[in-house]
Amino acid sequence: MDMSVSRAEFKRPYSHVVHQLRSVRLRPTRQRLALAKLLFDAEDTRHVSAEALHAEALEAGIQVSLATVYNTLHQFVEVGLLNEVVIDSNRTYFDTNTETHHHFYEKTSGLLEDIPANQVKIDLDASPPPCMMIVSVDVVFRLEPMKANGQDRAVNDN
Ligand SMILES: [Zn+2]
Repeated sequence: MDMSVSRAEFKRPYSHVVHQLRSVRLRPTRQRLALAKLLFDAEDTRHVSAEALHAEALEAGIQVSLATVYNTLHQFVEVGLLNEVVIDSNRTYFDTNTETHHHFYEKTSGLLEDIPANQVKIDLDASPPPCMMIVSVDVVFRLEPMKANGQDRAVNDN
């Protein structure tokens, strides 16, 4: 059992993530705390892959395996601290913005950008199967750079 968060580490900078973890009934282990701090201490909301967070952790001197990063991220999703955004079968992002919202996804850079929920109008012309209800909708707009001299665009002269 790893309950050992030393006195020195337990000071100010960690206090609000300790709180955050306790409020969702997750034991504030050293690794959870360290990862939570990387995720939630940023000024803006973040979209990170497990691999990117793992690299970030190692760089910050946090000894943690990729498997632990995966497990921790999924635990955070389960308790509602993170949203999971699945782009395709091998690309998943973890989003610190847990409000309902949508995304622009730039294929080439892999960047994900938030779109507030009220800026996407969804007009669903179908009903869910009987006894089912829609609980969430998230839309990903996949982007590619416009082709600079594409012939099909030449018509667009103002
Ligand atoms: Zn987002």
